[in-house]
Amino acid sequence: MIASALVAVAAALPLAGTTVHVDAGHNGANGSHPAQINRQVPAGAGGYRKACDTTGAQTNDGRLTEATFNLDVARRLERRLARLGARVVMTRTTNDGVGPCVNERAAIGNRAHADLALSIHADGGPPGGRGFHVIAPLADRAVRPAIVAPSLGFARALRARLQGIGLRRSSYIGGGAGLVQRADLGGLNLSRVPKAFVELGNMRNAADARLLERTSQRDLMAVALARAVVAALATRAQDTAPLVLLRDIVGRSFACYPLVSDDGFDGKHRCSDTERNCGPRRTGVKSPRDAPTHQDGPPEPLKK
Ligand SMILES: [Zn+2]
Repeated sequence: MIASALVAVAAALPLAGTTVHVDAGHNGANGSHPAQINRQVPAGAGGYRKACDTTGAQTNDGRLTEATFNLDVARRLERRLARLGARVVMTRTTNDGVGPCVNERAAIGNRAHADLALSIHADGGPPGGRGFHVIAPLADRAVRPAIVAPSLGFARALRARLQGIGLRRSSYIGGGAGLVQRADLGGLNLSRVPKAFVELGNMRNAADARLLERTSQRDLMAVALARAVVAALATRAQDTAPLVLLRDIVGRSFACYPLVSDDGFDGKHRCSDTERNCGPRRTGVKSPRDAPTHQDGPPEPLKK
């Protein structure tokens, strides 16, 4: 009985019903199309305009371009999010095109009514500087200032997860916070859905470049990014998940819902029977061992 009910619970993937826009920054042919890339496009409220896109960074030895790196991490993330049940909308799936412009990048997430949008980049910072940082929007030029707060929450989740895989916060921007808010990025200003950028390392720094070149490291980054998406959407996923009534072997009944698993990349799901998370339980039965053993508590709240 419990086993079959738990199978039903497990069928609800943590990101089921959600849409995530994954935006791989720049594009492989941007550099050979300067006229298209340099033209001015709308980039924020109040008539703010900016170049359509840029070519992006590259490593000092020229072997790895940012456009290539961004797409590779984006594809790895796409696969993980899809496995968790999300509908994933990609800005691009090849690296031989031009653009799209920053306003179109924002429009893609807006049209998809994405629950979250993530723009993936690597920086071209000072060669002596290392580390990642996350960028969230500011209200100044945002066409929908209401996204600023949830975007910042998402950015904090991203920072926590990237640190969690051992990446260091940027040494050259953000004063050690690993997070900055900017009003000069069209992709953020024009977003009507919560959105953040990640700069996963500094391509001009030799040590960071070695890290960014490793596919195992990109995999790990994609895992961290997916975990941040799950964490940021956890509350919503929990709210919309159907409660499942379970009855244990001594007849106590309680309701459970699928908890968002932080490491749910293999389809693991957890259910809680703590007082806080479950429906009424019969009193007078003491042993918690009679209940399903997976007491993991509520989903982790966003880090402040
Ligand atoms: Zn970039």
